[in-house]
Amino acid sequence: MRMRRRSVVRYFRPMPRIAVFCGASLGRDPIYAEVAERMGRAIVERGYGVVYGGGHVGLMGIVADAAMKAGGEVIGVIPRFMEKAEEAHRGVTELILVDNMHERKLRMHQLSDAVIALPGGFGTLDELFELLTWRQLKLHAQPLGLLNVKGFFDPLLAQQERMEQEGFLHGDTRLIAEASVGPLLARIVAGMDITDR
Ligand code: AMP
Repeated sequence: MRMRRRSVVRYFRPMPRIAVFCGASLGRDPIYAEVAERMGRAIVERGYGVVYGGGHVGLMGIVADAAMKAGGEVIGVIPRFMEKAEEAHRGVTELILVDNMHERKLRMHQLSDAVIALPGGFGTLDELFELLTWRQLKLHAQPLGLLNVKGFFDPLLAQQERMEQEGFLHGDTRLIAEASVGPLLARIVAGMDITDR
């Protein structure tokens, strides 16, 4: 009898996971490291795994360390050519080495059920926009969240509003934005569909 793909996925994925995109830098204000730490811990405390970029630098490293310290499952996905530059994290549950950035994003997406972006730079935005445009194209239906600490993402939300007003948006472009970890996670979890895992 042929095994349905869905049951194979369920077998290998017992725990729902949240992909966290965030800066490979710490940012100037210590609040960013504080919320990254809080986010890593809170995801685990709510019973979810973490998927992230696999580095041990910046906010990425802080999220991973906090989640590991809380006893959670952390999967890092890092391109081989970045192993040195982003200090591939050897202390996470699983470190997956991939060939390029495209593969990194795809693997992170395949391994997770929702996305949360913390403050970061263009890498963070690239990852967020990739998942947002994939959802616009109905390639997935996962919730996408922004940790809008210090109003960090206000300019992005204003740009989104402008694109909406000017008639350039289509499909599901909703972004869930909250200023703090608890309320954001609550909304993300409420929007997660894990029924077909
Ligand atoms: P940044 O927000 O610029 O500090 O970058 C955050 C993370 O995004 C880093 O791990 C970068 O390696 C990663 N990143 C940058 N560009 C891309 C891309 N095109 N695809 C996947 N990850 C990327």
